[in-house]
Formats: sequence, structure tokens, C-alpha cells
Amino acid sequence: MPASEFDIIQRYFREGAGRISAAQAERVRCGIGDDCAVLSLPAGDEMLLSVDTLVESVHFPANYSPQLLARRALAVCVSDLAASGASPMAFTLALTLPAVDEDWLAAFSSSLADAAAEFGMILVGGDTTRGPLCLSLQVMGSAPAGQALLRSGAQVGDAIFVSGHLGDANAALAFLNTESSELLPSQRELLARYHAPVPRLALGQKLRNLATAAIDISDGLVADLGHILKASGVAGVIRLSDLPISAALAEHGGSIDSALSGGDDYELCFTAPASRRAEVVALAQTLNVALTEIGSIQAGSGLRCFDAQNNVYTPVGGYQHF
Ligand code: ADP
Ligand code: MG
Repeated sequence: MPASEFDIIQRYFREGAGRISAAQAERVRCGIGDDCAVLSLPAGDEMLLSVDTLVESVHFPANYSPQLLARRALAVCVSDLAASGASPMAFTLALTLPAVDEDWLAAFSSSLADAAAEFGMILVGGDTTRGPLCLSLQVMGSAPAGQALLRSGAQVGDAIFVSGHLGDANAALAFLNTESSELLPSQRELLARYHAPVPRLALGQKLRNLATAAIDISDGLVADLGHILKASGVAGVIRLSDLPISAALAEHGGSIDSALSGGDDYELCFTAPASRRAEVVALAQTLNVALTEIGSIQAGSGLRCFDAQNNVYTPVGGYQHF
């Protein structure tokens, strides 16, 4: 949208990026408004990068609230930084809009600025084009050299942990379009988990020297833990009776399948030496976040799930785009 692209950027994105802390300002030598953003890394750190694209009607519902969209989009992308143990730094936004809707842009950009402040991120650049509603956010973070968490480090004998509760966001898909006034309190709780995921940034950073491998659960535990197992060349065993299910999900007939295969929770799944279990328990207390041990890493390949009677359970698959 050549005529007003400059105005849009100036009004809705450049001004919102002004709310940055002194420490952040030190890292951004040049932000929005030049050909490139110029950032400096803390001495001895490596840069961690990730990009995610959200397409209307695929990754979020049509006519989704711009406030919720902005926060959710940034949270989902920042979750990848959390899973890698990164300290958050900055992001760019490629925004494709069907038309210039000033109300939509005002709501979107102010929510984006709030979310950026919440997660310790700064918008430092982007691109604005016309087309079907679509967002790509590229996030940048940093971690001391060699300390980023990878999927490939799980070792035989490690314990497998997950943060928070599993399956909530997936269960909320059933009533995404129901009027809030018609929902039970527990349904509203599940819905909040879909709309406003919390990237586990503090947890990821604390896991740098504790976890052997980590991933964020975007496509479901089975699929995402599967990525750790494959990248690490190991097998996993999990006990279904140990999966952390929220009271709200239990009230809704909380199915094991939601917890195993439902996406969109953005909790972390990680492995750590079984001998360091007490440190994980202490970390859960420090951060006031549930960290539940759900199984172990073994030699071999693939994931096996056992129910309370010790029978093998075959989960339905996680979400796959193709
Ligand atoms: P160029 O033609 O050099 O790629 P643009 O005209 O696309 O530059 O953008 C001008 C400036 O505005 C650049 O600094 C770019 O990073 C920034 N920008 C463009 N769109 C956005 C956006 N949606 N959010 C944040 N910054 C943006
Ligand atoms: Mg451009």
C-alpha cells in the first residue's frame, strides 16, 4: 500500500516502539526507520533467531480481535526463544493487510506494544504490504555462547518434564466462537489459555545449565517431544497418569488426547539428568510454575505411552500442517 505505508508505520509502529527501557535502548543502535536495524549483543553472547507466520483462518480465526491477535502472535513467537533459553531482545514484523483499517491498526499496534513490554521485546523493523491478512514475526534473543538449549541433547536415563498444564488450549477450540456470557468459568479459563499463552521465558533461561534438551509445545506433546527424541537419537516413555491436567480441563471431561496431542499450549517440554531432579523441583518453587516429571529417556527410538494399568496407549497424532 504505497500511498500510506509510511504514515501507517510512523503512526502505529514507530511510536509504539518508543517505550523501551534504558538497558534495551543500549542494545538498539538503530530501530524502525532505516534500511536495517542495528543491534548489539551482550559480550560473549550468541544471537538466537526464529520466525513464525500466522495466516488468518489457518493459525487464528477469521475476524479475530486485533488486540488478541497481536498479543498471541508475539507470545507464540517468543515461546521459541523461551524454549531455547534465550533472553528476549527484539523483533521485526512483516504485516500483510487487506485494507487500511485505522481502528484495527490502532488496537493491534497498542496491544503489540503492551505485549512487547510484557515480554521484554522491542519492535525494530518490518514490512507492510497489501493482501490477505497475514503476519510474520521474526524474534531475536541472546544467550551466553554455547548455552542455548537444543532439541538434540537428551541422554539415556534423563527424566522428561513439562511445565504448566497440557491440553487446555486445545479444549478451548470447541467454544472459540461462543459468546463469553454463555460460558462457564472453567470454559473461560481454558479460552484464556488459547487467547493469551504465556511464553515460559524465565523458565527457559533458568534451564540453560540444567536441561539437556528443550522444546515448546505448539503442536502437541507427542509431536513435540517426538522432535526431541528424533534429534537426540533416543526413545521416550511417558506415563499418562502423570500428565498435568488442569482442574478446568478435568471439569470438561479433560481428555488424555487433548493433553497428548492438542497444540497451542506453549508450555515447555524438557529433559534433565534424573540425578538433578531436586533442582527441577526447586526451580518450580522459585518460579512458581508447575514442573511435572512425566517419563524418561531410554535407548532406541520413538515414544511409548503407558496408562495407569501399564497398558500401551496409542495417541492420536498431533497437529500437522501438511
Ligand atoms: P525498505 O523499502 O528499505 O524495505 P520500508 O519502506 O519497507 O523500507 O520500511 C521503512 C522502515 O519502516 C524500515 O525501517 C522498516 O523496517 C520499517 N517498517 C516497515 N513496516 C513495518 C512494520 N509493520 N512494523 C515495524 N516496522 C516496519
Ligand atoms: Mg519494504
